[in-house]
Amino acid sequence: MLACVLVASGTALAALPAHQPVPGGVAVVPLGMGERPTVTLGDRSVAVVRTGSGWAAVAGIPLDTEPGDLSLTVRTAAGERNITITIGERKYREQYLTIKEQRYVTPDEEELARYRRERAEMDAARASWRETGVLGLFTVAPVPGRQSDSFGSRRFFNGQPRNPHSGMDIAAPTGTPVQAPAAGRVVATGGYFFNGNTVMLDHGEGLVTLYCHLSRIDVAVGDTVVVGDTLGLVGATGRVTGAHLHWSVYLSGVAIDPAYMLADNSQ
Ligand SMILES: [Zn+2]
Repeated sequence: MLACVLVASGTALAALPAHQPVPGGVAVVPLGMGERPTVTLGDRSVAVVRTGSGWAAVAGIPLDTEPGDLSLTVRTAAGERNITITIGERKYREQYLTIKEQRYVTPDEEELARYRRERAEMDAARASWRETGVLGLFTVAPVPGRQSDSFGSRRFFNGQPRNPHSGMDIAAPTGTPVQAPAAGRVVATGGYFFNGNTVMLDHGEGLVTLYCHLSRIDVAVGDTVVVGDTLGLVGATGRVTGAHLHWSVYLSGVAIDPAYMLADNSQ
């Protein structure tokens, strides 16, 4: 059977992620035809994208969400309604890592102050929003290589508990080009304390991606990129145990498992 995936403008619609309503997952909720609604989950705006059968909301589910019901608020000129999403359970592992440089485990005052400044810069970039009506699965991974399933793992560095892992690590040698998995705009670059050399992309509708530990950055804030463009090279800068790409994916500022945004043929 042929599936029509074209809209009137002739633009192909990207395939949506699967509905995975778990902590660190994605809720995909059909909203029907008609006027484009605005959708919120708590105090966050939610992506609203055009599909072959009307609008759909695509919401990131924060990692610390307890299983149970969440309510999406959908607004149009005609009024407001709520849609309940039931959040299931997903178990995350513990991960014990050994870091050679102790300053990455117990930074001094100056390093902590630096981290807080950098964190504010990255949080601002993570909150980027452009209403595009388009958001879809990535059909290429940023680098070829083995993809870790360690998103959400509770981490211990040299035995000390730290925040859960907020992305996917892809094993690749230093110097491997990192490619944009979708079109976007560069919203941050920097040499950050924990993340090392970093690039952040805004893909529209609150979808933002982060690339860390690069040995080289090849783009600047304000650049626009298309799928396949080189953002920089894999490296081992910042808090690492060896060369790899750390890749995070955010929806409305919420870190989700990047695996949920990759199409099957992307490895
Ligand atoms: Zn990582």
